[in-house]
Amino acid sequence: MINVNKVYLPPIEQYQKYLNKIWDTHWVTNEGPLLTELEKRINQYLKSDYTQVVSNGTIAIQLAIKAFNITGEVITTPYSYVATTGALLWENCQPVFCDINKTDFCIDASLIEEKITPRTTAILATHVYGLPCNVEAIEAIGKKHNLKVIYDGAHAFGCVYNGKSLLSYGDIATCSLHGTKLFHMVEGGLVTCHEKKLHEEIMLLKSFGHKGDEHISMGINAKNSEFHAAMGLCLIDFMGENVRKRKELHNTYKKLLSSAPLEHPVIPAKNFEYNYSYFPVLFESEKIMLEVKDMLAQNGVNTRRYFYPSLNQLPYLKTKVQCKVSDDVALRVLSLPFYYDLSIQEVKHISGLISKFFK
Ligand SMILES: *Cc1c(COP(=O)(O)O)cnc(C)c1O
Repeated sequence: MINVNKVYLPPIEQYQKYLNKIWDTHWVTNEGPLLTELEKRINQYLKSDYTQVVSNGTIAIQLAIKAFNITGEVITTPYSYVATTGALLWENCQPVFCDINKTDFCIDASLIEEKITPRTTAILATHVYGLPCNVEAIEAIGKKHNLKVIYDGAHAFGCVYNGKSLLSYGDIATCSLHGTKLFHMVEGGLVTCHEKKLHEEIMLLKSFGHKGDEHISMGINAKNSEFHAAMGLCLIDFMGENVRKRKELHNTYKKLLSSAPLEHPVIPAKNFEYNYSYFPVLFESEKIMLEVKDMLAQNGVNTRRYFYPSLNQLPYLKTKVQCKVSDDVALRVLSLPFYYDLSIQEVKHISGLISKFFK
C-alpha cells in the first residue's frame, strides 16, 4: 500500500546522540539547550533574528492573534487546513472569507478591500502548498487600512520569494513543524517576526506570561520539548536533499500526467524557489475525482481530499457565505502520494493508473 504521506525519520543513531545529551543534562523542556540550538539554526536558515519554536502550528497562529490583540473581523482564506479558521474562532475572532485565485489557490488580493468593514482588524492568509500569496498587494492593503498581516506559512518552510524566506513576509508568519510537514519535529510550530519587542512579547505569551517571579501578562503554555527539538535538529540539515528529491518526484509526476485532463496549481516561474511540499491535482469534476480516488484506493494507493471542504462551508459556522472559486476547487482537488521516501517507480505506477483510467 502507498500512503498519501510518510513521515520522514532520520537514522536512529543520529537521534540517539541527542537523547544522550538529554540524559546527561536531565533538561527535558522549558527552552532547553536543544530547543535554543534549534531556534538558532532555524533563524540562520530563514535569515531571521526573531523566530521561536512553539508546541504546534495552530497555537502559533493563536499566539500571533494574541500578540496583536486582534478582535472583531479577520479577512481570511477559505482554502487552507481547518486550523487556520479554527485558530480564529478559538480566539473569538470572526473569519471573513475572501475567495482565492484560480491559478495558485491563495487568497485573491484584489477582493480583500471590498471585505473591509470598521470591525476589520487583520488579514490571515495561507501560502497554500507553499505557493506565495500576493505579498506585495496584501502588504499595501494592510498599510493603507491599518490591518495586521499574518501569514499561515505551515507549508512554506524552505520557500524563497524575491531572495527572502517566504516566512519573512507579513507582520508575523507562522509555520507548522508537525510530523506530516516537509520539515518537522514530530509536533511543533514556529512564530517569526521582525521586531524584538514583539518577539519578546510572544516569548512571554508562550510561557505563562511570567519571568521567574515577575508576572507580566496573561499567558499560555506553548513551549516545546527537548525531545521534539532533537528531531528538528536531526532534520534541518536534510532540507536541501529533501527538496531536491521532491523536485524530482514532482517533475516525474508532471511529465507522466501531462496528457491526462488535470490542472495543477501554478508555481511562479520567476523570483521563487519552491519547496515541493505537496502534489495536488485538479480534476474536471468532483465525480471524476471521486472515481479516480476510488480506483487508486482499490489499487492500494491512498490519496487525500486536501483541502476539503472549503472552510466557508464548515458546518459549525454561524453564517455561511459562498466563495465560488474555493468551493469549486475544494470539490475537485486531490492530493496524490508525495513524500521523500516515495520512489520514482511508485510515481510511475500511480501516474500509470491515472493515465489508464483516462484512456
Ligand atoms: C498543518 C497545518 C496547520 C496546523 O499545524 P499543527 O502543527 O498541526 O497545529 C495550520 N495551517 C495549515 C495550513 C496546515 O497545513
